Amino acid sequence: MNLRFDNHFVGKLPADQETGPRQRQVHGALYSRVEPTPVAAPRLVAHSLEVASLLGISETDVASPEFARVFAGNELLPGMQPFAANYGGHQFGHWAGQLGDGRAISLGESINAKGERWELQLKGAGPTPYSRSADGRAVLRSSVREFLCSEAMHHLGVPTTRALCLMATGDEVVRDMFYDGHPRREPGAIVCRVAPSFIRFGNFELPASRGDVGLLSQLVDFTIARDFPELKPGKSAGDTEALRAEWFAQVCSRTAKMVAHWMRVGFVHGVMNTDNLSILGLTIDYGPYGWIDDFDPDWTPNTTDAGGRRYRFGSQPDIAYWNLTRLAGALAPVFASIDALHAGLEHYWHAFAAAEHSNIAAKLGLAECREEDVLRMEALYALLQAAEVDMTLFFRSLSEVDADHPNLTPLDCAFYDIEKRRQAEPGLVSWLTDHGARVKQDGLPFEVRQKIMHAANPRYVLRNYLAQEAIDMAEAGDDAGIHDLLEVLRRPYDDQAGRERFCQRRPDWARNRAGCSMLSCSS
Ligand code: AMP
Ligand code: MG
Repeated sequence: MNLRFDNHFVGKLPADQETGPRQRQVHGALYSRVEPTPVAAPRLVAHSLEVASLLGISETDVASPEFARVFAGNELLPGMQPFAANYGGHQFGHWAGQLGDGRAISLGESINAKGERWELQLKGAGPTPYSRSADGRAVLRSSVREFLCSEAMHHLGVPTTRALCLMATGDEVVRDMFYDGHPRREPGAIVCRVAPSFIRFGNFELPASRGDVGLLSQLVDFTIARDFPELKPGKSAGDTEALRAEWFAQVCSRTAKMVAHWMRVGFVHGVMNTDNLSILGLTIDYGPYGWIDDFDPDWTPNTTDAGGRRYRFGSQPDIAYWNLTRLAGALAPVFASIDALHAGLEHYWHAFAAAEHSNIAAKLGLAECREEDVLRMEALYALLQAAEVDMTLFFRSLSEVDADHPNLTPLDCAFYDIEKRRQAEPGLVSWLTDHGARVKQDGLPFEVRQKIMHAANPRYVLRNYLAQEAIDMAEAGDDAGIHDLLEVLRRPYDDQAGRERFCQRRPDWARNRAGCSMLSCSS
């Protein structure tokens, strides 16, 4: 395997003086050097063809014992300089102090044939200075979920970190899944995540919270130079302020676009703490996430958040904004005036509205989205919630409704409850009639409209129960469920003959089953 590394993060930023995993508060440094802890029996469970090819890793390399050793953390390639990043964060609305990569270890920044920079990071690679009381490991179930969802999101067109591979470690990990005094032994696993940068909002918040403006300012300059190369520095002090302002506005608009995509496809992140928001606007840290089955803005899969439902589906745009206000607060000391930060935050809502407008137009098959269409979409969402309608199936099937003779037949597959369907029918048919008139006014030919709708409304998403079925199989020793899902989710907008099993309503048995509708942070 021939990877070329050029490690800017460790090469250009201050390191912790101590190396190794001893637990500690780390001041004046943005990371600690620490190596992965070897595992008993590395075994490749699955890999992404696309990510391997992005990195220039051949299929022969992937099949080699060296690949398994390297990506399970048992061996380093020349040029790798492993480290764990130091960051803080607001968790569930409260400042949590130093968190850091407690089980993620970055191996290095690989430069591919096109000159692109891709950082490789093992999640579950063993203890680091930031592991606190935990073990630095990850279980198979959560690793399967992260591996599959990263790739599924990418193919859906949602900005995300990627995943090169999923390795079984051969070691067992003990977890109390619902924190209720029932720990069990589970198979351990490691995912190799891949992204241009793993810098989070929390990387800026930590030095800011400690009044270390020098370190904060170094990180800001570094991030702009490495991760936002399209922003070019000027020469004067005023230019620096303008550059930082432009950067913050970019972070706000990227975050807005990412969340608008989540709302389009029905993705609920589940733990939108500021340590889980990427500075590049990538979906990061797949934990107790979930996909909307029956449309419900109040739903969250995260049982750890069941009380306040802070991170429920419908709150995600507001929470992203709140997180940006924390980031702005952290960045204030490196801005001469906070006007730019206010402007960036305001820009968030403009960027979000623009992204929402194009999503509404595409989801409904319109050439453009007018203000009245935003209201029409809101009315539709209220109807879908009241009638317990499957979000994915409804929007995918909407393109089959005849604008001249609107009725619910093409949408029948999307209802969970016959009685609720009956009650909702007049309202929905009236909405469809109204929509049919709007579509005719809009004037797009049927085929064009259907194409637009199919490109915005996926046929296949990683429904929670589908992931759980693949996990159950994998825990019993059969990886085929993972491979099947990975394959289907590579083309989520295509109708795939013979794969109908993957685009059905959630079955009844999965409604309240752990892993399917309820997930904790234990992973
Ligand atoms: P998360 O909820 O996954 O974003 O994790 C929050 C913090 O806990 C981060 O600092 C993680 O690195 C850390 N963490 C989570 N699980 C573990 C674990 N098993 N071992 C060490 N640190 C962990
Ligand atoms: Mg995290």
